[in-house]
Amino acid sequence: MSFEEKMLYEGKAKKVFTTDNMDEYRVYFKDDATAFNGEKKGTIQSKGVLNNSISSFFFELLQSKGINTHFVKKLNERDMLVKKLTIVPIEVVVRNIAAGSLAKRLGWEEGRKLKKPVVEFYYKSDELGDPLINRSHVAALDIATPDQLDELEGVSLKINSALSEFLTEKNILLVDFKLEYGLHKGALLLGDEISPDTCRFWDASTNEKLDKDRFRRDLGNVEEAYQEIWKRIGGK
Ligand code: UDP
Repeated sequence: MSFEEKMLYEGKAKKVFTTDNMDEYRVYFKDDATAFNGEKKGTIQSKGVLNNSISSFFFELLQSKGINTHFVKKLNERDMLVKKLTIVPIEVVVRNIAAGSLAKRLGWEEGRKLKKPVVEFYYKSDELGDPLINRSHVAALDIATPDQLDELEGVSLKINSALSEFLTEKNILLVDFKLEYGLHKGALLLGDEISPDTCRFWDASTNEKLDKDRFRRDLGNVEEAYQEIWKRIGGK
């Protein structure tokens, strides 16, 4: 009997399929884009292809620095093979420069450099719109142990250093980004993606936005911005 793959999940930007290996999934990157908790919908031409390439590149970079990720390999233009994870329902955001919801919450102008990187936790829940939570909320919700939370924070800061150092050389500012993690055979692995959908990237000379804010804020040249990131990190 031949193996039949099954779609397990369709999200806003990706689809996840089973494979003939019980421990691995195939992730398909779509061109669909959403913002404001799904209120704004659209497509960004070739986004799936670019985000698969950009994410694969960053996962390999992080793995070379000793960070454990779900990445196995890039299969083709739009598909990535990953290890199966039991997702931890926490989104970890790391920030170096005030923007987006932090700028709004603290009343700071976008572009203000933070004295120290800020790490935030959000509860992954579409119905609630991913609310900001702290350590005691995590304990009360019982979604991670204090040790796991320390690990999430430590690894996220290490990722911030590795990515910031690499991107500085490409004349890109890493303003902020969102990470997701999951458990695989008892180990905490970085999951999801690292792309202009999940990071704020600014040109270091002009502060021009090279990320999904171009879509969120109708700034135009969205695909060109994703292309520019891929080109600067070494793609074509
Ligand atoms: N982010 C994300 N998914 C989300 C929310 C945020 O990838 O559901 C990323 C976003 O692209 C940015 C960072 O996390 O790089 C911080 O986002 P922020 O809290 O400022 O929220 P936003 O202004 O995007 O609503």
